[in-house]
Amino acid sequence: MTEPDLFQVVNPATEEVIETVAMATVAETDAAIARAKAAFDSWRRVAPADRARLLRAFAAAVDSDLENLAQLEIANAGHTVGNARWEAGNARDVIEYYAAAPERLFGRQIPVAGGIDVTFQEPLGVVGIIVPWNFPMPIAAWGFAPALAAGNTVVLKPAELTPLTALRLAELARIAGIPDGVFQVLPGRGPVVGQRFVTHPDVRKVVFTGSTRVGRAVAAGCAEQVKQVTLELGGKNANIVFADAELARAAATAPYAVFDNAGQDCCARSRILVQESVFEEFMALLEPAVLGVRVGDPRDEKTEMGPLISAAQRDRVASFVPDGAPVAVQGLTPEGRGFWFPPTVLSPVDQDSPAFTEEIFGPVVAVVPFRDEDDALRIANRTEYGLSGSIWTRDVGRALRVARGVEAGNLSVNSHSSVRYSTPFGGFKQSGLGRELGPDALSAFTETKNVFISTEE
Ligand code: NAD
Repeated sequence: MTEPDLFQVVNPATEEVIETVAMATVAETDAAIARAKAAFDSWRRVAPADRARLLRAFAAAVDSDLENLAQLEIANAGHTVGNARWEAGNARDVIEYYAAAPERLFGRQIPVAGGIDVTFQEPLGVVGIIVPWNFPMPIAAWGFAPALAAGNTVVLKPAELTPLTALRLAELARIAGIPDGVFQVLPGRGPVVGQRFVTHPDVRKVVFTGSTRVGRAVAAGCAEQVKQVTLELGGKNANIVFADAELARAAATAPYAVFDNAGQDCCARSRILVQESVFEEFMALLEPAVLGVRVGDPRDEKTEMGPLISAAQRDRVASFVPDGAPVAVQGLTPEGRGFWFPPTVLSPVDQDSPAFTEEIFGPVVAVVPFRDEDDALRIANRTEYGLSGSIWTRDVGRALRVARGVEAGNLSVNSHSSVRYSTPFGGFKQSGLGRELGPDALSAFTETKNVFISTEE
């Protein structure tokens, strides 16, 4: 017998070990995939109305456990209480939204000669979902809810650092009556469990959210078996502020668009592009807004930013702000234990510097001036990422021109919203492949089957 691989789960605000979780082995992963494969035969045959009812019961179970799930995420990931409650509510809403899908998974009837032609949306089989640590609950639900609704069974691997809410969601699914083997959560190492999802021939699709580096390897591995893959990867998103914008609101909201979740957000607007004629005015408005961000105990309802997920992540973020970095504004952090990094604004920055080109995934934002629309688009698109972005202007024509010009999947005008469960989400270029959420997500978890029925005598 080899020793079990035990992972110590740490509270990032206190550095205390809160739980020890056994990491699944390859043999355990194979056994779970075999259970999921066996469960698929019956799950796909559950009548659409019954599958819908089971998913609604699952959503109700999540709803009744909302505060517990939120508290687990606060302890495990250091998320602020406001965010953690929103995230648990988002998981519930996503399950509820896709509970409507089994009864609406329409095919088409296509006019042809000599008979009738119909299409069916068939489930794929076992779907493997690999989740990062930054938004453990929502990102898990964006994968498993539509996958289950479409009739697939799911094996899900949470990130090593944040397994607790995913494990609780699996329990809630069982309590709600989702049959054994239909939805399994396997805490484990990426190169062990995650990699096995990629190489196991009975896993028919992999949904991966995480870094572009690992996502590229996952896609290459899936190609070996012509396995379907959805990728949600990194971002280096631009918040573009034109001179005609409501400047006070643009400046007041900009910190929250990048420092929310301590900047550990693939949609973080970590580059602020400001039209040069209002650059100084914007910076003057930005400073008090940044200094006003309340950093501290994530359990306190007034807290707006908590700690980073780990010491390693804090060191990585700090490497983008070396001694002598052009720090224009920097907030404070609590004293003592916890993986803290202050909200930090860099300006002026060299547009070729790593702080301006690489995803920092921490509370660091760089501000640069631009001349006109063309210049703003050139700077915004000068990246291999293309996930999200914001445009601030009072000119509707400009808002639409720039929104069409930015190479990114999710844009907001005079707002920083990126994610609604009822609208599609995903990246251009190296930010990803495919879309999650919204009305079309089911197509990512089904194959179209065409059947011709002759009416000839
Ligand atoms: P990561 O790529 O290191 O890990 C993500 C997941 O992949 C984890 O569960 C990890 O265990 C697993 N993994 C690691 N190596 C693997 C391998 N060889 N095979 C299979 N799985 C493997 O990323 P992270 O540090 O956990 O998350 C941060 C990254 O996620 C950031 O780059 C961020 O931009 C990105 N992200 C993207 C989105 C989006 O929707 N586009 C959302 C959230 C996070």
